[in-house]
Amino acid sequence: MPNVLLLHGGAGSDNSYTEALNRYANSTSSKKSMDPLDFVVEAVRLMEDDPSFNAGTGSVKRIDGSIQMDAAVMANSQIGSVSAIERVKNPVLVAREVMLQTPHVMITGDGAVKLARALGFSDYDPTTERTETIWKKMVAFFNGRDVELPERYSQYYRYAKIFGFPQQKDTVGAVARVGGKFAAAVSTGGSSPMMRGRVGDSPLPGAGLYAGENGAVVATGIGEEIIRKMMCYDIYTKIGTEPLHEILKNKVEEFGEVLVGAIAVSKDEFASYSNSSMATGESTWP
Ligand code: ASP
Repeated sequence: MPNVLLLHGGAGSDNSYTEALNRYANSTSSKKSMDPLDFVVEAVRLMEDDPSFNAGTGSVKRIDGSIQMDAAVMANSQIGSVSAIERVKNPVLVAREVMLQTPHVMITGDGAVKLARALGFSDYDPTTERTETIWKKMVAFFNGRDVELPERYSQYYRYAKIFGFPQQKDTVGAVARVGGKFAAAVSTGGSSPMMRGRVGDSPLPGAGLYAGENGAVVATGIGEEIIRKMMCYDIYTKIGTEPLHEILKNKVEEFGEVLVGAIAVSKDEFASYSNSSMATGESTWP
């Protein structure tokens, strides 16, 4: 089976990102490595540095105006994850260091920032003009209404949809099969509108990503709903029972109208599926 690297630009992302994603996949696949982790991390790093995406530079602001990002990597039954990390350029690189250099699996908030600084990741403001404008619109939107948080936080998103509030999409993720081994990586600024401290599915193994000896899976969409359904682990356990595309489609359809998507790679297939548009990019090589 050829090696494969598959990227996504987020559930709901515009197909105009396809060209950039294919470019990132192709430039990454020229790497001289036989470790699938190197490929997913490099691809996600490139997407974090592209301000069009809601990850790294270009991450969306929270309701209070802060930027907190989530990222994770998984390979070889090893996991590294950061959540609510602030003021770093590439959360995915910090997530990889959590896996390689600490005894831990997940590090959050100020602890994640402290670890990043100790490892030499310098202070960096990921704000862009675009995310500043989106945030100002959000503030204006909520200032104009008497908003009470609904009982279940995910209903907030439905509320946003009803009133046409612009939701931020364009999270990024990657899965790879290299030399028959698998890895997954994901990075996001989150799914606005959201409170400070909110953690989505992306940094949670089993929910936002999963990689094992049979394949790798990454999810995107409304994190709260993805967590409730342990989306990636559920897809992973079904690998081999049906064509991969069918497994993804059936899982995504369980979510009804809630925006979700997933990408996955198995020993002999790779596939993507979303209930909305979702830009993807891919590269295969011998
Ligand atoms: N799943 C991400 C989150 O909820 C957002 C996304 O994939 O668009 O944080």
